Amino acid sequence: MRNVVAGNWKSNKLLNDARAWMDGMSSWLAKNGGVDVMVAMPAPYLAACAPEAPEGLHVLAQNVSAEGFGAHTGEYTAEMLQSCGVAGAIVGHSERRARFGDVDAVVAAKVDALLAADLTAVFCCGETLQERESGRAEDVVLQQLQTGVLRIPVDQIGNVIVAYEPVWAIGTGVTATSAQAQDMHASIRGWLTEAFGAEVAESIPVLYGGSCKPSNAADLFSQKDINGGLIGGASLKPEDFQGVIEGHPALNR
Ligand code: PEP
Repeated sequence: MRNVVAGNWKSNKLLNDARAWMDGMSSWLAKNGGVDVMVAMPAPYLAACAPEAPEGLHVLAQNVSAEGFGAHTGEYTAEMLQSCGVAGAIVGHSERRARFGDVDAVVAAKVDALLAADLTAVFCCGETLQERESGRAEDVVLQQLQTGVLRIPVDQIGNVIVAYEPVWAIGTGVTATSAQAQDMHASIRGWLTEAFGAEVAESIPVLYGGSCKPSNAADLFSQKDINGGLIGGASLKPEDFQGVIEGHPALNR
């Protein structure tokens, strides 16, 4: 099982801040292992920062085009990301699903584009508060997996990371309890087992995201089916991000 903690800066920081953040991570990364550490930066910094990333830091994009090369002004392809040394991209983040037209079919095409370029796809899924309160949380999440992940060939699934991010917990300061998160992660693991078999399902990292911070990371990451986290606000400062990763039981120090 791969253990992963990935940061998501969203639309924050300038290029110099990105470089300073990497400086702030490098000696810590040199001393700590056992958890794959990733960070999703704003697109303009990728070509500069991916080659400069300290050992042990995988640089991700926050988006990718669902289209290939061609007349798609403003879009960037998975091959472009790969040519810049980027390891992969987040797809299906709830902010993009809600505000930028990333419906299930678009998210699926983005996953396919990343996998075809041999890049990692961090596939986000999660229910809104209304969906949870109406008892549909599990159905919504499993449906997102059905359209985004089910048809992926088994030989490409090793490049997929699933991130369960309840929309009501993202950027709100309200974290799912570890029991709520574990329940959904167990459902996701069960779905992955049916889709790909037990051995493959166990190898797919399933991350929790939603107001995860140093004070609650250890509790969340100690749950059986939670393999790490996708971290927004608490990834912006190296010391907070390190504090989150230090909550992972697989960290070797
Ligand atoms: C996210 O943006 O994926 C996220 C989990 O944000 P936050 O940690 O700030 O809730």
